[in-house]
Amino acid sequence: MRLRLPHDQMNLLMDALRRAGEKEIGGQIFGEQLMPSDFRAIEFTVQRRPGRFAQFMIDLVQAAQDAARFFDRTKHRYTRFNYLGEWHSHPSFEVQPSSKDIATMRALVSDLEFKGNFAVLLIARLDDDHLNCGAWLFEPNGSEQRITLDIEL
Ligand SMILES: [Zn+2]
Repeated sequence: MRLRLPHDQMNLLMDALRRAGEKEIGGQIFGEQLMPSDFRAIEFTVQRRPGRFAQFMIDLVQAAQDAARFFDRTKHRYTRFNYLGEWHSHPSFEVQPSSKDIATMRALVSDLEFKGNFAVLLIARLDDDHLNCGAWLFEPNGSEQRITLDIEL
């Protein structure tokens, strides 16, 4: 799977990471499908309530509101515009999912209420003015793999 990261969304992410400092922050990723297995992450939401040092908790109320707003904006064309997954920062650790991150994502995609075919976890970290990102794909069948990220300039 390929995930394209638009320049404007990367600027938004960098601003949010600068503001958060040492606290972990995160949100959802919504995207547009361009071709099978080829997506553009057109909206990164930023949760207002930040996490603590080394911990990020999803605010389910804001997540639901942000999702509703994205689906309204993209006129409920779900086959083209949909939820891609979650992102959070690791200001003090490598951009690798922790064992808790992996467990959280496996629980998300294997939940009976989960409607998608997959969910992405993107981890971001700001080193001076350089944005480091890593992303992994989780599927309900239990498989996971690293994703190719393509930053669009
Ligand atoms: Zn993490």
